[in-house]
Amino acid sequence: MDLPVDQAFCHRLPKAELHAHLSGSVRRETLHSIWQRKQAKQQCLDLEDPSLALKPAGDYPTVVSFFQIFNKYIYRLLDDAESIADATMPVLEDFRIDGVKYLELRTTPRAIPGPGIDYAEYVHLVRQAIEGWNLARYFHNAHNYELEAHLILSVDRSMTLAQGMEVVDVAIANQALLEPGCASRVLGVDLCGNPSVTPISHLAPAFRRAKDAGLNITVHFAETPTSSTDTELEELFAWSPSRLGHAIHVPPHLIEVVQSKDIALELCLSCNVLSKLTEGGFADHHFGMWRNNGCKVALGTDDVGVFESALSNEYLLAAKHFGLSEGEVVGLARSAISAAWAGKERMMKLLDEFS
Ligand SMILES: [Zn+2]
Repeated sequence: MDLPVDQAFCHRLPKAELHAHLSGSVRRETLHSIWQRKQAKQQCLDLEDPSLALKPAGDYPTVVSFFQIFNKYIYRLLDDAESIADATMPVLEDFRIDGVKYLELRTTPRAIPGPGIDYAEYVHLVRQAIEGWNLARYFHNAHNYELEAHLILSVDRSMTLAQGMEVVDVAIANQALLEPGCASRVLGVDLCGNPSVTPISHLAPAFRRAKDAGLNITVHFAETPTSSTDTELEELFAWSPSRLGHAIHVPPHLIEVVQSKDIALELCLSCNVLSKLTEGGFADHHFGMWRNNGCKVALGTDDVGVFESALSNEYLLAAKHFGLSEGEVVGLARSAISAAWAGKERMMKLLDEFS
């Protein structure tokens, strides 16, 4: 357990992924095949080939240009039932192949007027895709679910309160299993989106409703200096999140609040370093600060389709740049599981068997 950590070890490690966005997790090859199918049907003719439209990871000069690839490209390509299913299933397969055993996949419900898809229908389509994939794996793998996958619904910062309420209502309606025998549920809600869009206080009633209905809460927190004012961060604490995403620009007096409330941190090394949300290299990442402060940390990929760093590689990067032994990496995997909203018992058992 004190051996140096290598790629094979991180791959074998049973991992929980708690911070992954569905649209950002779609592989470029998948986007390319969806684009080709649409081109053949004379659809999306004005959209450039994704192999050209999506730049290599690290080539997005600003955080705004990063968000534009979703609004101006990926959302436009994934705009019907077939594309949503065709994008979702390979995402699950990629996490499974990487040794992820538990996944909380987040997605922002979208209304797509052409095919008449509203927020509820969008979530239904994603859930159907998850269950279709689950069923195929279940029969392929001697009646065992290899990957326990659930959903988190995201409220975008740019939404109106009415839209935020609608997302929460859809989340509440999807807390139960789709039907007996299904394996995935909506476990919570998230606040996401371009951090330069402020303020967010108008969305507070939506998160209050989510909390009252028993949903868990996570929020993208202190991602950029603009979204790290005391006013915004204190507002977000008032929403009672049990986890915080990124948590980059947190002032010292609020680090103590995170510690005292035992809030877990969802930290995404490659995303932050490659999109220049953090200064310096991997060794300068605030992962070290939160870890030294004894906080619960869950490594995540954020957008593996964009940054092309699988969760096993995130564990390897943490081990390499922060000098973690095998035993410490297992401890890190346990820390992520302790912050998960379901499946803890099964995951802890898998880790016990592993270590
Ligand atoms: Zn994120």
